[in-house]
Amino acid sequence: MAAHPFKICDDNILGRHLVTTRPIESGAVILQEAPLVRGPFLHTVPVCLSCGKILDASCWRPCSKCGWPVCDKNCEQSPTHQSECILTAAKGSQITIKNFGIPNPNYQFVSILRALYLKQTSPEKWKKLLSFQSHSIEVSTLPPSFIRNFFKLEDWSEEEIAQVLGVLLVNGHELPLTQPSQLVVYDEASFLEHNCRANCTKTFTDEGELLVVASRSIEPGDHLSICYTDPFWGVQNRRQHLHQTKHFWCVCSRCEDPAELDTHLNSIKCPKSTCDGLLLPKSFLQEVSVWICDKCDGLFSNDNVSVLLGKIGGELSEMPKGDAQVCREFLQKYEKVLAPNHFYLLDVKMALSHILASQNFEDLSDGDLGLLLKMSEDLKIVAERVAPAERRLLGLILYRTAKSKIEMARRQDNLSEFRAVLANSKATMSEARLLLANEPSSLPEGRLHRQIGLELRLLDDLLKNK
Ligand SMILES: [Zn+2]
Ligand SMILES: [Zn+2]
Ligand SMILES: [Zn+2]
Ligand SMILES: [Zn+2]
Repeated sequence: MAAHPFKICDDNILGRHLVTTRPIESGAVILQEAPLVRGPFLHTVPVCLSCGKILDASCWRPCSKCGWPVCDKNCEQSPTHQSECILTAAKGSQITIKNFGIPNPNYQFVSILRALYLKQTSPEKWKKLLSFQSHSIEVSTLPPSFIRNFFKLEDWSEEEIAQVLGVLLVNGHELPLTQPSQLVVYDEASFLEHNCRANCTKTFTDEGELLVVASRSIEPGDHLSICYTDPFWGVQNRRQHLHQTKHFWCVCSRCEDPAELDTHLNSIKCPKSTCDGLLLPKSFLQEVSVWICDKCDGLFSNDNVSVLLGKIGGELSEMPKGDAQVCREFLQKYEKVLAPNHFYLLDVKMALSHILASQNFEDLSDGDLGLLLKMSEDLKIVAERVAPAERRLLGLILYRTAKSKIEMARRQDNLSEFRAVLANSKATMSEARLLLANEPSSLPEGRLHRQIGLELRLLDDLLKNK
């Protein structure tokens, strides 16, 4: 790979961050790197410490040297398992795991041991780990002194253990290649700052390397960013989540704008029956006291709005999963109360889209097909505006848009119209394929990328023959 198109900069507010040094095209891979640390999340059910698979009582064996569970001899001997194996064996007693299928507290040590062991095996990686900004982390459940004593880690200071724990908690990414997913720490990618409307997206290779991809064209001098939270949450939920997990209050331009680039992701409808305005506070960055209607200038107390949103949120969290009818009813009920792209409605539209698109498009009723197309088109507009970095979702939405249009045209029985739709959908599908180009084959998006390739060939044949 050519030299990086960015440099690492440092300042008091952001700490280390990445700034572009030359123009970057949308879709370009900016960075590809292997993890410094890769291991199970701190809270997990027993998994094999080599391949990461969930173990059940009938399919495991204790490692002969350390007692940690593995699948078999091969997994016992794999290099992946060596750090915790050597450090556990060195303390003189084996780990005993008896219960499977429920979270096991011993597993919270594994990724920490893997990180600590770098001090002895890779001084360069160890230095990188220690160079991460350390945060004061609430570690009352896992004091560094306890880890140090339990594993007899005389070569590591309590400060080093605390630092490593902080790095895992704050700089850890989720690697979704295995089930359950794993915790990984990368070096340079850790300097990607957060933005709720990020210009980069991250994905992974099948080997667990991180790929950072430009989600739009980026100019020299621009900061590179990814989104650390769910970009489809409302501003208050995003900021709260970032504060809890990453210890800062986001003040990005998206958070500054209550209407979130005109998507009205947080807006609710004016309750006055004669008014079709939308309510928003002046800003979400300060404490909110009133919401103001953009048509009638009516003022509504934040307390009342909070009660309303709390009630809807509660209903949403108790909704049974995977039930299309329940989703339709929720949308019907709350489209009267919330702005069309309110984050609660978006959430349900995404869920309903997944349910409908998981069936054969030929089997969908005309009504559901129309609904799927409409939801896909709405979601596309919102995603492109507030979260253009969500390339996986955009690829999926474009694919569904094309498939719905083709199926609708097929039902019309008008050959020339059908051909026009096919040609048009081919362009949409090619766009979807491009958005998914960097997805690993072990994930559904990577498999969809392959499938779209096959479907595009079929479309080509159809267009030639008709
Ligand atoms: Zn295994
Ligand atoms: Zn072992
Ligand atoms: Zn923000
Ligand atoms: Zn009003």
